[in-house]
Amino acid sequence: MSENVVIVGGGHAAGQAVASLRQGGFDGGITLVTAEQSLPYQRPPLSKAYLAGELPRERLLIRPSAFYEGAGIDVRLGIEATSLDAGRRSLMLSDGGQLTYDHLILATGGRPRPLSCPGADHPAVHYLRTIADIDAMRPRFVAGACIVIVGAGYIGLEVAAVAIKHGLRPVVLEMAPMVLARVASPEVAGFFENVHRGAGVDLRTGVAVSAIEDRDGKAVVLSTAGGRIEADLVVAGVGLLPNVELAQAAGIDCDNGIIVDAFCRTSAPGVYAVGDCSNHPSRLYGRRLRLESVHNAVEQAKTAAADICGNPLAYDQVPWFWSDQYELKLQTAGLSQGYDQVVIRGDMAKRSFAAFYLKDGRLLAVDAVNRPGEFTLAKRWIRDGKAPSPQQLGDDSIEAKALAA
Ligand SMILES: Cc1cc2nc3c(=O)[nH]c(=O)nc-3n(C[C@H](O)[C@H](O)[C@H](O)COP(=O)(O)OP(=O)(O)OC[C@H]3O[C@@H](n4cnc5c(N)ncnc54)[C@H](O)[C@@H]3O)c2cc1C
Repeated sequence: MSENVVIVGGGHAAGQAVASLRQGGFDGGITLVTAEQSLPYQRPPLSKAYLAGELPRERLLIRPSAFYEGAGIDVRLGIEATSLDAGRRSLMLSDGGQLTYDHLILATGGRPRPLSCPGADHPAVHYLRTIADIDAMRPRFVAGACIVIVGAGYIGLEVAAVAIKHGLRPVVLEMAPMVLARVASPEVAGFFENVHRGAGVDLRTGVAVSAIEDRDGKAVVLSTAGGRIEADLVVAGVGLLPNVELAQAAGIDCDNGIIVDAFCRTSAPGVYAVGDCSNHPSRLYGRRLRLESVHNAVEQAKTAAADICGNPLAYDQVPWFWSDQYELKLQTAGLSQGYDQVVIRGDMAKRSFAAFYLKDGRLLAVDAVNRPGEFTLAKRWIRDGKAPSPQQLGDDSIEAKALAA
């Protein structure tokens, strides 16, 4: 009898796992269980073109419904996997059903970290993770409205950019002394701060939300700086909590995500974890990582599928990510944590530059703004552990493709 695979999740990782299993020749049963009402869809446009109303809902789907029908996938929408018995290889579902599996792929992603201040349950407070989240905030996302965005990470800044474009009045509150504090250098953060302030965003760094009060249906946001802001809409983008509870309750090792090996295998036989929910070993950075990016979700799904298909290939990728704000395309490759030198190539004033992050002369990461060439090259240099000298990297008169690693 042929084997079967159950996939829990409805994001990029789950969608890719289905496709890669069939592409890899897996011809057994595949069941996809997702708590959401939609087939697997892309999240990045949610804070970009979908929020802006420039992308219809159907275009968010990673693959059309005909793909799942053609591939013979048993899709269960709006169903949550509520408990896992890893010994019996069985999964309980919220509709009372039960599934047994030979292989299980956990692609459970994460959920927004909730605000913890008093009044955080005010109806004007919204989060941004699902199509339903955007649709719920849309009636308040209208020209003239005051929107308070809590957290100046990628998502918060993207929302601010769309808000400006749509005539809202965005106020961004960031607890850290600079934007993108977890990921960027002060140089790059300063660049984005100038761009947003120049576009009309009221950006306040070093300011946290202390409470949210109600005034006639509006949210009054109180900050540690002592201000009171009357907001029509509050959007919180303050991080992600990985959905590990299903695995954890089943006794699977978890620590900032579901612990996996280089093949995305968890500590339970036959169980894999991929995407935002997983925590994997990185050869490149010599430590464990839990990444939140489309690239990681897609590549880990391919890794798990290949292992199930009998073609194991260790996951060994340079992380990368992008963010769109106004007319700027930021592309990041690698991880900059621990850098001791930043080399800027290009001209921040012209909004076209790359910031290279090095440690002991070794290239760790790049933030490239409207510089796709440098981004692509740096990805290769990081992977190969060989990069041009800092002097060459900083010399914009040398064409990027002529830079010798
Ligand atoms: C607004 C936004 C903008 C982003 N922009 C970018 C970007 O520009 N570039 C980039 O690289 N990345 C971006 N990301 C991150 C990227 O979208 C995620 O890294 C990626 O979606 C992770 O995919 P995933 O499949 O691991 O998890 P998710 O997409 O979180 O999917 C998890 C799915 O599992 C379901 N689920 C969870 N538990 C259960 C259960 N017990 N039973 C059934 N179903 C369950 C959830 O409902 C969900 O559908 C963005 C994310 C957001 C939210």
